[in-house]
Amino acid sequence: MGRSAKRLRGDEKPLPHLSMTNTRPPLAPWVAAFLVACGGAASYGPTTPAPTSPTEIADLHDGARVTGLDDRRFDHQGYWDAVEPYLGGSVSSRVAGESAEGRSIRHITFGSGPVTVLLWSQMHGNESTASMALADMTRFFHDSPDHPLARRIAEGATVHMIPMLNPDGAERFRRRNAQGIDVNRDARRLQTPEGRLLKTVNDELQPDFGFNLHDQSAAVRVSGTDLGVAIALLAPAFNEARDVDDKRRRAMQVATLLIEAVEPLVGQHVAKYDDTFNPRAFGDLMGAWGASTVLIESGAWEDDPQKQHLRKTNFVGILAALDAIATGRYAEYDPEVYESLAYNGRRLPDLLIRGGTVAVPGIPVLEADLLVEYSMPLLEEGGMISDIGDLGTSEAQDTLDVDGLYLVPMSSALDAGGGLDVGAPAHFTVADDPEGRRVRFLFEGRPSTRR
Ligand SMILES: [Zn+2]
Repeated sequence: MGRSAKRLRGDEKPLPHLSMTNTRPPLAPWVAAFLVACGGAASYGPTTPAPTSPTEIADLHDGARVTGLDDRRFDHQGYWDAVEPYLGGSVSSRVAGESAEGRSIRHITFGSGPVTVLLWSQMHGNESTASMALADMTRFFHDSPDHPLARRIAEGATVHMIPMLNPDGAERFRRRNAQGIDVNRDARRLQTPEGRLLKTVNDELQPDFGFNLHDQSAAVRVSGTDLGVAIALLAPAFNEARDVDDKRRRAMQVATLLIEAVEPLVGQHVAKYDDTFNPRAFGDLMGAWGASTVLIESGAWEDDPQKQHLRKTNFVGILAALDAIATGRYAEYDPEVYESLAYNGRRLPDLLIRGGTVAVPGIPVLEADLLVEYSMPLLEEGGMISDIGDLGTSEAQDTLDVDGLYLVPMSSALDAGGGLDVGAPAHFTVADDPEGRRVRFLFEGRPSTRR
């Protein structure tokens, strides 16, 4: 088969324009103005300020931050090596069970108050933000049990934490467990060791409050806005009718408190998670089983690929919530503030490669834009082609302008017959010519080797 490629753009053209545009929005001006006008914090609850304000809790985080968890892709060993020094003293711990592959799942306890709270994180192995925050909370409880905040929590509540519920998934930094099961869809069948463990602990403790801690897609905007979602909250429905009983109302009040507590750190980048009842999900069934449950989803924050800002945000929000739960202060919060929160909105694709000419060896070249979705969006790794063609009206998190350049697929991007399709790895030589000889840079799942 002969080459039928024809040059669409000649060398007489001016130098091709090549630039990356990041469309992740900064804090909206009105939000900044609002925060200034309110002295940095809104209040949706008690007229008297919290005894330890969210800003003060944020200051505590610097001293409580556990070292060794700066890369959010830590494994089971790395996590527990980092946390181990802070177990003991006022913090007790036990091995609650094992994962499918035999990794220990640990249960940390702090305080001895009458209100029982159960928090679990990283049920999805690649959602590690809250595990970092639970490590930092463990250190705070261990190092500073006499801090007024820690004392109030310990006197009013007993805090149970199960960080990294899915260590086999964490080992591979993937969502599912070693059996290929989404543990958060196993609340009914309880076929996974991890799901059974959580159910057993829940049945033993019969918690008053539950915190189901996850990470969501980095590309979601607050509905009706251009604001990226940093934190999404849900007081899950416990039945199809999405009824609000006292138990769910309490969860909504805690959610309102969380909106207030995280505001100094993430402003209005807060949304409500879809509240359709899912009878297979733990968060939803925990509600049905008796706990006032709140889901916290960590999304993304600008220039924070390791989610360290959201780690701190979790630390602040969860400690503020535990304080208010332990003292009963949460009951003064208005559930309507949570109810009126905008939902998670549209999800933008990760990258639009715009203005190039695709030159697949052996078939005619064509002017085509490409959409790329990363397997690791915040780290911009593992890009796969999700669309090819005239994508002039598409929006994406980032745009790579390759006007005047050729995208020559590498063999790894082509199917067995030498053709190109969506779903293929986004592996291209970006060049001045359709043969890919005068190379500008390589795109191997991400822009690399820029020349
Ligand atoms: Zn999740």
